[in-house]
Amino acid sequence: VSFQIQSRTYADQVAKFKGQKGPDGKFTVSLIEGDGIGPEIAQSVKDIYSAAGVPIKWEPIDVTPRLKDGRTVIPDESIESIHKNYVALKGPLATPIGKGHVSLNLTLRRTFNLFANVRPCRSIEGYKTPYDNVDTVLIRENTEGEYSGIEHVVVDGVVQSIKLITRAASERVLRYAFQYARDVNKKKVRVVHKATIMKMSDGLFLSTARDVAKDFPDIEFDAELLDNACLKITTDPAPYNDKVLVMPNLYGDILSDMCAGLIGGLGLTPSGNIGDECSIFEAVHGSAPDIAGKSLANPTALLLSSIMMLRHMGLNEYAVKIENAIFATLAEGKALTGDLGGKAKTHEYAAAIISHL
Ligand code: NAD
Repeated sequence: VSFQIQSRTYADQVAKFKGQKGPDGKFTVSLIEGDGIGPEIAQSVKDIYSAAGVPIKWEPIDVTPRLKDGRTVIPDESIESIHKNYVALKGPLATPIGKGHVSLNLTLRRTFNLFANVRPCRSIEGYKTPYDNVDTVLIRENTEGEYSGIEHVVVDGVVQSIKLITRAASERVLRYAFQYARDVNKKKVRVVHKATIMKMSDGLFLSTARDVAKDFPDIEFDAELLDNACLKITTDPAPYNDKVLVMPNLYGDILSDMCAGLIGGLGLTPSGNIGDECSIFEAVHGSAPDIAGKSLANPTALLLSSIMMLRHMGLNEYAVKIENAIFATLAEGKALTGDLGGKAKTHEYAAAIISHL
């Protein structure tokens, strides 16, 4: 059985990485450990990578927000690190609710123009959930929609938030989704939308998809309303297994957490933020302040994100080795973290993975 998380190998990126190897034979990857449980789960990744002999050197970077000309920015040297290395692994970053600095996650996505957020969602063999047959991929437009950050007070008690959809950004993520489907042997691309209500914005996304589909005659194309998709996928996920689902930003955020629920929760779901130049890989989950510092966090989602990163860099051999060790550990079920019903501490689970390498 191949457990592999559906993940493209990016021929154009791999060619770029070939020239990145240092004299010691290692690649440098920028590492943002992040807030809350971030440092604990990042430590597990580092330990497992050294045990597996992955030829990677971590370059830790600081993304503490700074204000420059009234805008939240991240330190220049951190941006340079990611530009230089083309790739970063990122722990979760907390965002203040309703006030304070803008989301650093958004700042990173905008800074590096990470236009596609890829979220594979696959049942894990041996780990029991109500469904054991989920195997779909969600691709979320990552730069605009409700996340464009254009909000203002109209009069007291009335605010407007603008949902921005452009043909250019839609076309870019849609082309990516069709290419992705081709690369990982999915038959169909399905747009998830709400163009019945948001006739113009989602309508533009949908009509752009119809145009892009003409350039991919080998991939079937259809569309489904968001509410219907939520109902259907939670009732019977199997019909979604031959599909890549692509959608505007907010829908992707919510639907992917819902799908995470189908396979065992946020501790298990990875993602990649893909740009033309640089890419940043991170778990779908946040900083989990309720369990931070207690060694209770499940590092699997960050680890699987790092495996997407290894494939992105063409280091497939190590991706397969670590992935198999993770799935063997989960199937064995002896050292599971609390979110999966076990009693193991984060580092005990990591040690079990190392013993399966
Ligand atoms: P969360 O994902 O941090 O936590 C939701 C629930 O899932 C919590 O009960 C938590 O304990 C659990 N959980 C999450 N990850 C887990 C793991 N690896 N192992 C075990 N249990 C895990 O969501 P939240 O509480 O809504 O957000 C907390 C903070 O994270 C907020 O500041 C939010 O803005 C931020 N956030 C960041 C990102 C990101 O960096 N990409 C994504 C989502 C949320």
